[in-house]
Amino acid sequence: AQKLQESIQSSVPRIAVIGGGIVGLVLAIGLVKRDIQVDVYEQSSGFREIGAGVAFTANAIKCMGLIDSNIVDAFRSVATPNGDPNESTDYLQWIDGFHEGGKLLFRLDAGYKGFEGCHRAHLLEELSKRIDHKQVHFRKRLASLVETDTHVVLEFEDGSTAEADAVIGCDGIKSTVRILLLGSEDPAAHPYFSHKVAYRTLVPMERAEKALGSHIARRQHMHVGPGAHMLHFPLANQTMLNIVAFADEPADWPHGSQNMVTSGTRQEVEATFAGWGSTCRTLASLLPPQLEKWAVFDAYDHPLSSYAKGRVCLAGDAAHASAPHHGAGAGMGIEDALALCTLLEPALKSSSRLQSRGPRSQWLVRSSREVCDIYEWKYPGTGTDMSKCLEEITYRSHKLWYFDIEGMLADLRRLQESGPQE
Ligand code: FAD
Repeated sequence: AQKLQESIQSSVPRIAVIGGGIVGLVLAIGLVKRDIQVDVYEQSSGFREIGAGVAFTANAIKCMGLIDSNIVDAFRSVATPNGDPNESTDYLQWIDGFHEGGKLLFRLDAGYKGFEGCHRAHLLEELSKRIDHKQVHFRKRLASLVETDTHVVLEFEDGSTAEADAVIGCDGIKSTVRILLLGSEDPAAHPYFSHKVAYRTLVPMERAEKALGSHIARRQHMHVGPGAHMLHFPLANQTMLNIVAFADEPADWPHGSQNMVTSGTRQEVEATFAGWGSTCRTLASLLPPQLEKWAVFDAYDHPLSSYAKGRVCLAGDAAHASAPHHGAGAGMGIEDALALCTLLEPALKSSSRLQSRGPRSQWLVRSSREVCDIYEWKYPGTGTDMSKCLEEITYRSHKLWYFDIEGMLADLRRLQESGPQE
C-alpha cells in the first residue's frame, strides 16, 4: 500500500470501474467530480437496464447528494412520488394479503419524499448523461487482471488491454472481478440460489387503478402472508405500477447462476396466491400471461471475508449481492460509492480499508433473507405475532434508513489520515 500511495501521488490516479450499472455509473460520476481519472468498462454495447422498478429511501438519496448533486438531479428527474405528491410524508405499508379484507398490519414513516421509485432504464439513461462518454468503453468484457508493482493490466475478452492504478469491480451479482479476486474455487466467488423466485412486471396505472382503486394503486404496499408476498409501487410519473410477486421454489435452480431469468406465467402466480385475499388475487390477475421470472440469488451462504486485495476492490452487488426483500441493494451500493469517493478524494490510499463497508453490507445480505421470513410469517422469533413482526421490521428498516452517514465519512477520513496500514 505504501508503494501504491507513492506511485499514485506522483500523478493523477487512474481508476478503472468495471461495469456501467447503477453503482458503476454513480461511482464514476463521483470520482470525476473529485478530479480522478476514470474509465468505465462495460460488457454491453450500451447502457442497459431492465424495464422494472427500483426504489430508494431518503438515506440513499442523501448519499447520492454527498457524492454529487447531479446524481440527485438525475434521480429526481425520473422519480415518481409514492401517492399524492403534496403529502408531507411517505409511508411504507405492510398489509395482510392472506386474509380477506386486506388489513393494514403496520406502516413506517419514511419521511418527506422518503420513498421514491423509478424505472431502472430511465435512471440509467439520466445518469449516463452526466458522464463524458469518452470515459466509457462499451463491448469491453473483462476477462482477467494482472497486477504489477506499479499498476494493473486489464485484459478483455476481445483481446484488447488497458492499464489503471486501481480497479473497482461494479460488475454485479455475477462479478468477474470477484472471481478473479478470490479464485473460482472459493465458494464466496459465486452467488447461490435462495430458493425464492420473483415474478416482475409493469402494468399500466389506468388498469391497476380500475382494479384496485387509486389509494392502493398509487402507493407502495407490501402484501404479506404465509410462504409468499407481493410488492407494488408506482413508476414513470404514476403511469405504471411496478409489481413483484415472490414465491418459494424448493427445487434447485436448473439454469445455474449464469442464467437467473426465465419465462414465468400468470397462472403460476395465480396458483401461489389462490387461497389469499381478493387484493392479491386481483394483483395476480393484472399480470400478463407471460412474464419474467427471476431466481433470487445472493451472497448469504458464502459471504466474502474481504472486498479488496492489493489494487483491486469490489462495490455494489459484486461485493454483497443480497435478496431484494429490503429493497436496499442498490442503495447499499450507493453508500459504497460514497465511501470510495471519500477515500480516494485526496489521494489513493490502502484499499484494504474498504473492509469497513463489510459489516453493514453483509448484515443487509443476512437481514434480506430474514425479513422475507418475517413477511411470510415463518421467522422463528416472530411467527404470526404481528407486534413482534412490527418490532423486527421497524428495527431493520431504521437500521437501513437512519444510518450515520456522517459518522461513516468521519471514520473513513480518520483512517485515511492515519496513513497506510500495510
Ligand atoms: P448491476 O446493475 O448488475 O450492474 C453490473 C454491470 O456490470 C452491468 O451493466 C453488466 O453488464 C456489467 N458487467 C458484468 N460483468 C462484466 C464484465 N466482466 N466486464 C464488463 N462489464 C461487466 N435495490 C434497491 O436499492 N431498491 C430496490 O427497490 C430494489 N429492488 C430490487 C428488486 C428485485 C426483484 C431485485 C432482483 C433487486 C432489487 N434491488 C433493489 C437490488 C438492485 O437491483 C441491485 O443491488 C443493483 O441493481 C446492483 O447494481 P450494480 O451496479 O452493483 O450491478
